[in-house]
Amino acid sequence: MNKIEALVRPNIRALCPYSTARDEYQGKLGIFLDANESPYPTGYNRYPDPRQKALKEQLGAIKGLPADRIFLGNGSDEAIDLMFRVFCVPGVDNAVAISPSYGMYAVAADINDIQVRNVPLGPEFSLPTQALLDACDEHTKLLFACSPNNPSGNAFEPAELEDLIRRFPGIVVLDEAYADFSDKGSLRGRLDEFPNLVILQTLSKAYGLAGLRLGMAFSNPYIIRLMSMVKYPYNINQATQELVSRALAQPIGDNVATIVAQRARVAAALPAFSCVRRVYPSDANFLLVQVDDADRLYAHLIADGIIVRNRTRVPLCAGCLRITIGLPSENDRLLKSFEAYEKGDIHR
Ligand code: PMP
Repeated sequence: MNKIEALVRPNIRALCPYSTARDEYQGKLGIFLDANESPYPTGYNRYPDPRQKALKEQLGAIKGLPADRIFLGNGSDEAIDLMFRVFCVPGVDNAVAISPSYGMYAVAADINDIQVRNVPLGPEFSLPTQALLDACDEHTKLLFACSPNNPSGNAFEPAELEDLIRRFPGIVVLDEAYADFSDKGSLRGRLDEFPNLVILQTLSKAYGLAGLRLGMAFSNPYIIRLMSMVKYPYNINQATQELVSRALAQPIGDNVATIVAQRARVAAALPAFSCVRRVYPSDANFLLVQVDDADRLYAHLIADGIIVRNRTRVPLCAGCLRITIGLPSENDRLLKSFEAYEKGDIHR
């Protein structure tokens, strides 16, 4: 058994997955009397492709990866949950994670009865490599890192991530949900160098398709096969497969560049307000902003019809609001609302 195989839950290693008759049928035109579907066409009377072959090929061409290195999930949240289900024995194994980071790592861990050991980021939200490694024991199967990180907004240096991936003896889950907004790029082109790496990306951010729920995991074909065995057979519905395929065939446009330019503009404008203590550097499509009284400013913005995320009770984020970059006109409104707040023209 190789090192990666040894990390897999024994019951998953031995799993005989659900298979459909359509997995066995390779021809083109057929009479489908195998799946107890309705024969009457509604546009959706047939089950979708459980392997999402066409969509994986289309995404593979964009991402520069073969289909056998791609897992598609109902959002990246599905892939996060599957990491625990594939690798961690409930009540026995554990995971380490940077903190603060995306909340679903801990929620998925709790649901699967897996302990998460949260390791605070270092100074200036830096990657705490040694502390992450020190937090491990023989039951540590997974390490969650997120770059650019939510909610801190910063991306870690590829060389630092590389060092962590090489030194961690389990599976590193590197969440790159916001990588399209960062000039530090993605590690997905280097999967061959890291057999213990699973990269998560999503169509929910830069691609503007959050409503369709399409998350991706990139890894070696063995880990992708395990994830595919454990997922629900028809996890990506027909409408999502069709609509994503259509959206990917359109020119991408310059939305990401506009968001990045607006990020710089809002980051430059905010420090002029006296309530703003610090705007953290961001490689993502949001800004983490430390202010004098986060709860009061948050309530003002809500009353003014602007919803941001209050992160003041999150570790290392005291006094912070996380503000997503919107349309230029929405960012104008945000800055106007800060102005009104400063003038004392505040809502209660
Ligand atoms: N990862 C990170 C770091 C996120 O911030 C989010 C959403 N807020 C997700 C994953 C979830 O992505 P999806 O919509 O693909 O489930």
